[in-house]
Amino acid sequence: MSELGPSPLGAGEDNLSVAQARAAIASRLRPIDEHETVPLAQALGRVLAADVIAPIDVPAHDNSAMDGYAFAGDSLRADVAIELRSVATLMAGTPHRGAVGPGECVRIMTGAVMPAGADTVVPLELCEVDPRADGDRVRIAPRVIKVGDNRRRQGEDLARGKAVLRAGRVLKPADLGLIASLGIDSVTAMRRLRVALFSTGDEIASLGEPLAPGCVYDSNRFSLIGALQRLGMEVIDLGLVRDNPQALQAVVQQAIAQADVVLTSGGVSAGDADYTRDVLKRTGEVAFWKVAMRPGRPFAFGPLYAGDLQRPTKTAWLFALPGNPVAALVTFYVFARDALLTLAGAAAQPLPVLQARSTAAIRKRPGRTEFQRARVSLGVDGRWEVQTTGSQGAGILRSMSEANALLVLRHEQGSVAAGDPVDVWLFDGLV
Ligand code: AMP
Ligand code: MG
Repeated sequence: MSELGPSPLGAGEDNLSVAQARAAIASRLRPIDEHETVPLAQALGRVLAADVIAPIDVPAHDNSAMDGYAFAGDSLRADVAIELRSVATLMAGTPHRGAVGPGECVRIMTGAVMPAGADTVVPLELCEVDPRADGDRVRIAPRVIKVGDNRRRQGEDLARGKAVLRAGRVLKPADLGLIASLGIDSVTAMRRLRVALFSTGDEIASLGEPLAPGCVYDSNRFSLIGALQRLGMEVIDLGLVRDNPQALQAVVQQAIAQADVVLTSGGVSAGDADYTRDVLKRTGEVAFWKVAMRPGRPFAFGPLYAGDLQRPTKTAWLFALPGNPVAALVTFYVFARDALLTLAGAAAQPLPVLQARSTAAIRKRPGRTEFQRARVSLGVDGRWEVQTTGSQGAGILRSMSEANALLVLRHEQGSVAAGDPVDVWLFDGLV
């Protein structure tokens, strides 16, 4: 296969690589600093604003990890069996008042508090039990058990006074359980980031309208609403705005007033016959970039100001995505995802990158990053392989919908042969 020459688009003031654009965005952003108390049952996906400190040990007491007999492990002998007499039965949740003396043991259930004098549990299936009226006789053969076996230590899961989860954590289901295990029923969370969203373009039709010739329905707003919801953002849907400077100006002002972030799609490419660029330029310090990537070259980012540009009363960050439905989602994924999480106060959590074998040859010019919609699956040899999902035209949303990943051809990379390893960004759970 002949090599393609470098991309005509080099790096320059407005021409950036994906890495440069991501770095330029990241260098500007500081998290919001408002927080609120959220009941634990509603805290999934919320960002912790403060460390969670354990007020108690978990478990609160030494307890048994098995159903069996608890006894003093120092009575075990290396070469001979020992025989113990069971003096009580302990259920989980009912502590034993007495102590276990020499030659004694107690029948104990999983989770029951270890009685005084006992430090080891022999599971039922590892001992011989001879039931007697004055207490079971329990025979433990040599070398089946060691001192301390099957005892869960007080505080072994979480130690009192220690930070269990750090500020910036995006709470997962297991985290909610962990917090509950400490007896804590609410968390201090960052308030959710407010993202105002609108689509632009005279050729875009709202759902419910008949489709006039040459028009397309507004799909971007819905893909982006979904992507924002997946990230735990508060979405302010400002609908579809016509290519009319007054209407745009009014909606942009409303967005700045209500939101931390303004997310638009369409109208930012240089050749666009619409007013979005002018209005955005006049309303803040917006940089218009041509990013060396495919899909999704045009992209704009910067602060938008309410009121006087010199003395703004409020600022919101603009992410202006290209209008092509796939480009809008890919640029959201590449530039907006991490940025929104940073603004929301979340600790960095880069997307997982896999290496997978490309099932087909792919032609590619060095000098731009290419994102292809793809499906990752397990090959017959048990290794990951990746296959693109049909037509890669920037407007073909179906191939995005069929994809579970982006196949990423890095900036400096050239063509790929079938069987070569390539980077894959998994996006299940996001796009
Ligand atoms: P633009 O970035 O405005 O030049 O738009 C590029 C392409 O994306 C055009 O074909 C538009 O019709 C299409 N497009 C723009 N906005 C949307 C939208 N909200 N939903 C679906 N397609 C759109
Ligand atoms: Mg347009």
